[in-house]
Amino acid sequence: MDYKKLAELLFPNIESAGDVLKRYPKRDLKEGQQVTRYAPSPTGYMHIGNFFQAFISYCLAKNSQGIFIVRTEDTDQERQVEGAMEIIFNNLHVYGLEPDEYEKPNGETKGSYGPYIQSKRPNFYKIFAKKLVAEGKAYPCFCESKGGKAEILKERETKFIDTDNTEYDECRNLNLEDVEKNLKAGKKFAIRLKTDGTGKERIKFVDLIKGEIEAQANAKDVVLLKSDGLAPYTFAHIIDDMLMGVTIVVRGEEYIASTPVHLEIIDKLGFERPKYCHNPLIWKIGDNGNKRKISKRYDPEADMRFYEKEGYPTETVIEYLLNLINSGFEIWRGQNPEKSWREFKFGINDITTAAPIFDLVKLNDISKTIISRMTAEEVYVRVLEWAKENDKDFAEFLLKNKAYSTKVFNIDRDNPKPRKDIYKWSMIKEYFYYMFREPQLEELADEDREKYEEFMSAYAKQFKFPASKDEWFANVKEVAEKLGYAVDNKLYKANPEAYKGNTAKACEFIRLALTGKKNSPDLYELMSILGEEKTLQRIIGGKKWEN
Ligand code: GLU
Repeated sequence: MDYKKLAELLFPNIESAGDVLKRYPKRDLKEGQQVTRYAPSPTGYMHIGNFFQAFISYCLAKNSQGIFIVRTEDTDQERQVEGAMEIIFNNLHVYGLEPDEYEKPNGETKGSYGPYIQSKRPNFYKIFAKKLVAEGKAYPCFCESKGGKAEILKERETKFIDTDNTEYDECRNLNLEDVEKNLKAGKKFAIRLKTDGTGKERIKFVDLIKGEIEAQANAKDVVLLKSDGLAPYTFAHIIDDMLMGVTIVVRGEEYIASTPVHLEIIDKLGFERPKYCHNPLIWKIGDNGNKRKISKRYDPEADMRFYEKEGYPTETVIEYLLNLINSGFEIWRGQNPEKSWREFKFGINDITTAAPIFDLVKLNDISKTIISRMTAEEVYVRVLEWAKENDKDFAEFLLKNKAYSTKVFNIDRDNPKPRKDIYKWSMIKEYFYYMFREPQLEELADEDREKYEEFMSAYAKQFKFPASKDEWFANVKEVAEKLGYAVDNKLYKANPEAYKGNTAKACEFIRLALTGKKNSPDLYELMSILGEEKTLQRIIGGKKWEN
């Protein structure tokens, strides 16, 4: 069989593989420098597992001063979701994972190894399929045009479920005249790999995370080019990774099973095998205590939109994922509280081999620490940014009351041991609700109501807006003592019956009036932020407080 002639018949007048390789020369990389890629299919919103993969890919490139590519794998036209790539690019941008080479849906592009969108690369797939045909390593399969079988085969082509080769034996053995006849009759053809596998061979390959893997070698004549001229993932990603000079293929571990097929194709093409890094899936402990894959259907936190909507700082998600990648991050963070996560360098050997288990409580804890380290000004900026998208009224309030809001966010913050209660921006309005709207006296016990009213009316009459904490407390004590409260706690403890209560009780009443709660930050600080007018309004009670 004259394979060259066959190749020419199938793909007349196209650029040669050799010329393409000249146009995409090997990258001039320094020792250790890695080229990685994130290759999403635009089929929906971003799952945290995809983000995890993109993040690992990004870090492996950046930690080696290498190159991070984003490639759009849009050859499966039927599964495409409008706008998905915009979301993916935006997500990467929000988290600061800027790619070095890419093409965005709006046409913005960077890098000289493109196009970076698979649907713009059909020629490359044809050229290299032709090369394989010319070398007798692939063949045209006209099965799709056979009566009755078209649908079954189409399904196989798209799902890549190939049965044994006997199905295509006929096409494997067509001679040039048959092919010519079929082409003249306008029959469509797919290109299949002519595997050397018989089903008995084993293959070994190294995964950089999991180590050496042994598996059955490929024995299927998989589809390299579909009859519509598009290449399925199996072939397209190999050509792209090679032409783009990718050194480490970071992808989900679900691709381990098809790696033997990919390796046979790579070997037949005569390409250098890339390194593989199959990143682990993220798991979760379900309600029944069993481990299961984290899924968008059951776990809101599996969808990256969750973090934006709830208002988690981007650092939280990043730092949590770094924890999942390498438990050493936590220790490093403890020793380097001020450093950016970017300074935590890890290599491929530092990626955990254990299946990472997602734990929202742990993520929230990380977030609390991150937020506790921010200045009030920073919190204001972040909350405002979040509120603009998610709580317009609150955003308006924040814009009108910048100084006041910043002071509120500074409560319990500007000290060596800031509180660690807040883990997302969506909780901040409720957390400080008494600073943003009039509180309700929900926590006032019925049996205290009379005493509360008596104390508050006496306090309101004598109230002087305090100039210092001491002045404030002296004023409270004066009022309390006059009403029969103990100002000396020892005396009170020795004989509680003799008093209406102690100063702690008096403070509790003021606290209730100001915040509606029995626990609150320092009252003097709250009064200073609320200001004289609002403080007095709350002490007198009844009047609505509006900003
Ligand atoms: N487009 C494939 C996916 O989204 C990417 C696989 C790969 O990274 O090679 O699953």
